[in-house]
Amino acid sequence: MVFSIEIRGVVQGVGFRPFVYNLAISMQLKGYVSNNAHGVIILVDTTKYKCEEFIEHIRANRPPLSDIESIDISQPNENHTFKDFTIKKSDNSQELTSMIPSDVAICEECKSELEDKNNRRFEYPFITCTNCGPRFSIIKNLPYDRKNTSMDRFKMCKKCQDEYENPKDRRYHAQPIGCFECGPSISLLDSSGKELHVGNIVDEVVKFISDGKIVAIKGIGGYHLVCSALNDKAVQLLRERKQRPSKPFAIMVKDIYMLKQIAMISSKEEVLLSSNKRPIVLLKKTEIESLSSLVAPKINQLGLFLAYTPLHHMILQKLNSPIVATSANISYEPLCTTKDEIMRLSCVWDYCLEHDREIVNSCDDSVLFVENEKIFMLRCARGYAPAYLKLPKKTDKKILALGANQKNTVAISIDDKVVVSPYIGDLDGLSSVEYFKSHVDTLKRVYDFEPDVVVCDKHPHYESTKYAKELKAQNENIELIEVQHHYAHVLATMGLNSITSKVLGVSFDGTGYGDDGNLWGGEFFVCDTSSYERVVHFKYFKLIGGEKAIKEPRRIALSFLFELYGKEVLKLNNHTIASFSAHELSLLYQAWIKGLNSPLSSSCGRLFDAVASILDVIHVCSYEGESGLLLESLYDESVKDIYEFSVLNGEIDFSVIFYQILKEENKTIAVSKFFNTLVEIICDMSKKYDLPLVLSGGVFQNRVLLRLIMRKIPDTILPEMFVSNDSAISYGQAIAALQFKTL
Ligand code: ZN
Ligand code: ZN
Ligand code: FE
Repeated sequence: MVFSIEIRGVVQGVGFRPFVYNLAISMQLKGYVSNNAHGVIILVDTTKYKCEEFIEHIRANRPPLSDIESIDISQPNENHTFKDFTIKKSDNSQELTSMIPSDVAICEECKSELEDKNNRRFEYPFITCTNCGPRFSIIKNLPYDRKNTSMDRFKMCKKCQDEYENPKDRRYHAQPIGCFECGPSISLLDSSGKELHVGNIVDEVVKFISDGKIVAIKGIGGYHLVCSALNDKAVQLLRERKQRPSKPFAIMVKDIYMLKQIAMISSKEEVLLSSNKRPIVLLKKTEIESLSSLVAPKINQLGLFLAYTPLHHMILQKLNSPIVATSANISYEPLCTTKDEIMRLSCVWDYCLEHDREIVNSCDDSVLFVENEKIFMLRCARGYAPAYLKLPKKTDKKILALGANQKNTVAISIDDKVVVSPYIGDLDGLSSVEYFKSHVDTLKRVYDFEPDVVVCDKHPHYESTKYAKELKAQNENIELIEVQHHYAHVLATMGLNSITSKVLGVSFDGTGYGDDGNLWGGEFFVCDTSSYERVVHFKYFKLIGGEKAIKEPRRIALSFLFELYGKEVLKLNNHTIASFSAHELSLLYQAWIKGLNSPLSSSCGRLFDAVASILDVIHVCSYEGESGLLLESLYDESVKDIYEFSVLNGEIDFSVIFYQILKEENKTIAVSKFFNTLVEIICDMSKKYDLPLVLSGGVFQNRVLLRLIMRKIPDTILPEMFVSNDSAISYGQAIAALQFKTL
């Protein structure tokens, strides 16, 4: 009997066909395997029993990079006779809806070859196989085939070609395959861009790092700036040159043993860190601090990751100590991916370890953390992107969702799925906007996608909104849909959990454009996938100075002080007041009372700012989310009390809570009670509305808050395995677009 087995999921470009081929040969089956529009199709001529056994083996032993979504078995009507088992060439045009595989860390087999003096790829910095190496970052077009990647300019040597063509070889159809003879190579530059000719480049780089130098290293999806993580002077120098006074740096280490000397890890975290996606994982620092204290000042967490390319591996093996590895970009600009771009940063680095494999699609490192055994992301990028997320229903329309302005991602719909781009970043400068557009173009090109529907935020000044309007102006057949920011946040968490029915959606966030033109961000919605009602929110307060207030927590605290004391504030003696001059205070009072450049906001993120300033934790932030991170570090589990609060006419007046914090003498108690109070508020609302509770928005990246809520309301619906910040907006927008009747 002939059986047709169709397998869907991540099954292309991951060594699935040779795996099936070898399995079929070993089971003496006849037939063929091929790629089709949905994944992989197998035809076998065998008994029903043997066919089932075959499928069982496929499920149990699938290639490490693959992900099986479904397996459908049928019996074709037409007659087939097979002499043997073969890998059949596929019709290329059919593969466009398949998934692009993500970039993958070096596998164990390649690692041992890399270290094997007798192997022809001993210390070859670009060693890869069917199970590892770059994917997304080198793809120009689908299908994922060498000619459609930036490897196309490297002509394979005879030996590589043989491996590439042999279905029994572990490099069969490994598109980035190469060797010293035929593949990409590394070079070393000084900060003037001149190439340095040295004996062994890696040895030289290791020496530079040991000597306290800063080295730019080209990786998979972009460049890193690297220095010794043990050397205070080097880390300080990097901070000064990068003008990054306190934002924590990520640390890359050689292996899990070295990592355990720096941070405490759970078994779940260990699995994540060592997975082939190799994300940065936020971990608790250990007591014995061997690292430079300047790596993550005043914070009890550290972002750590393991070496993931052969090149990183070789460097760390020789250096044998942890390095700072931070994305190379100029402030407010995207990640550097070309030599020209990294040269513009040459004032920051001393040497650059360059290579000649072009980065087609840039991709930052992913950042995540584990809380209560659940995984949450801060940045969804290398290894995880593009992300394929479910839509509540299938659509024939082609939806392009352009996301928010900060932490932007863009998304397109394909059938019942959304493809979400990797983290693009903040759309602040001209080059960021160009970068954003290039990501839109990548999705359009790779998926041969022309949108019928464009979705954007309601904020009229978001660059993504402006671009949506540009697209509409260019093609009036495009339907333009604007979606409220926090509704998109809630929809994203609902989508991740396949929920469409009525929920209580909480969106605690920075600021987003509200339906009334104010800046929302502390919202409770009763909503489903077709509509929302804003039932409760934090009472509006004024953001004195607008944008400036977002960077200066003291302005938020001052706003509450004005609310409580009016002009009498000038006589108060506290840290917030002391951080301003008398002249500034009187100007700010005028702005506050007259509402000059002082938009109204209900943002919960800003409440963290107010608390941080009034407790003298921080008055001016040097990076986004700093106040929340610092408050987290002050939280004390043993404090169980809360502050009094009330909900009146759908509003929670935070000034009442703020007043109690003001009277508190102990900083730790104040911070802990503040967290407990937020949790209590959510609990209260959850009881009142008696609907499934859905959490969304950037504030829920706060681990303390998440932990407390998970403890208190165990069945809370969470933004698990994805981001809750503005990178989730494009996904939520795509879901919102489905409700429109034309779709
Ligand atoms: Zn490998
Ligand atoms: Zn070769
Ligand atoms: Fe947001």
